[in-house]
Amino acid sequence: MGSIPTPGVKISTKMINKKTIRAYVLKNAIEHNGKATTGPVINSLFKEGLKRTGIKNAMLKINEVLKEINKLSVEEQRKEFEKLQGLVGHRPERKGLPPLPKAKKGKVVTRMSPSPSGALTLGHILTIGPNFLYSEKYKGKFYVRIEDTNPDNIYKPAYKMIEQESKWLCDNKVKIVIQSERMNLYYKYAEKLLNKQSAYVCDCDKEEFKKLLLEKKACSCRNLSVKENLKRWRKMLDKKGYKQGGAVLRFKSDLKHKNPAMRDFPLARINETKHALQGNKYRVWPLMNLAVPVDDIEMGITHMIRGKEHRDNAERQKMIYKVFGRKYPWDSYIGRIHFQGLAISASKMRQGIKLGKYKGWDDSRLPTAASLKKKGYKPEAFWKFVEQRGLSEVDKVINKKDFFEVLDRFNK
Ligand SMILES: [Zn+2]
Repeated sequence: MGSIPTPGVKISTKMINKKTIRAYVLKNAIEHNGKATTGPVINSLFKEGLKRTGIKNAMLKINEVLKEINKLSVEEQRKEFEKLQGLVGHRPERKGLPPLPKAKKGKVVTRMSPSPSGALTLGHILTIGPNFLYSEKYKGKFYVRIEDTNPDNIYKPAYKMIEQESKWLCDNKVKIVIQSERMNLYYKYAEKLLNKQSAYVCDCDKEEFKKLLLEKKACSCRNLSVKENLKRWRKMLDKKGYKQGGAVLRFKSDLKHKNPAMRDFPLARINETKHALQGNKYRVWPLMNLAVPVDDIEMGITHMIRGKEHRDNAERQKMIYKVFGRKYPWDSYIGRIHFQGLAISASKMRQGIKLGKYKGWDDSRLPTAASLKKKGYKPEAFWKFVEQRGLSEVDKVINKKDFFEVLDRFNK
């Protein structure tokens, strides 16, 4: 065993001793509900002087230690860490979020995309957080893009609420964009994809198509000419053409893709439900995997931080970027925070308000931005919470009481 260095003294050798590794693994585990992960430990060790050439060796040691430590309870971890904490360099605490990779001043464009199914919630606030804060830090732009291309999933008052609360949260430094006002753009891109033979209009029976897809086989629509596809596309747009459910626009991906959900996924469909803003002006609606990449391209989004649940969609959207020869933005995922005692779905809130169970969207029992604002919380309190959490991908469970204790401290 090497000697124990005094706090703050950097270890300059390439080889980091096992005790130091153990200290960092413990620290990471305690900070993450008892479960350490390799990445952050390696990063800390770089700051301790670990050289690139030493990674392989360090990794072996870390993984060995990690296995042992993750088996301990947080209490046991704390106890052991008390003895070893002198080995952890006492660097000044970082203020704010870590620097954003590939970010240039004035050139960062970020977004957050709620659907107008209810008011902005705590969950939305925590995703707006890093995106907005980075646009501020790099003097860029931040958009809140309301994704309303599914006419069945719209609660009309949500438009106004989302706009109001976003402006409150971001001190008016936010641009609101509504997708249903950009329909011609999506149609233009749909036609481009058809012309590039990267999409096709499929009028097969849904179940039959699904069967073919699972067998990695093409349907008879897939190899039709561009001319025939454009004709079918016009038939989708025509009120007298295909019926609702009669045809979908599909992306030509890879039929052999190991994940069936990535094979020839849909891009647009017919839905004749009257739209809250657009009425019956449109019958063909883009799905997320068309509208999102089109907007990200057109709005020049450079960085995206979003929930882990969007990973599969991101993979689909990358395929669209590729067809247009565009470089995909830098992206990162954050874990979910489950707020025990505060998780209420938009539909439950909507229903509860309708039935008079809640007084409104700002009812003190609801986890909405409106309610938190009414209680006197300032946006800065949320941003401190966001900064403290960083860009961690680890899911967390926080109960209501603990959360408000932290928030109250930040709200002073
Ligand atoms: Zn087909």
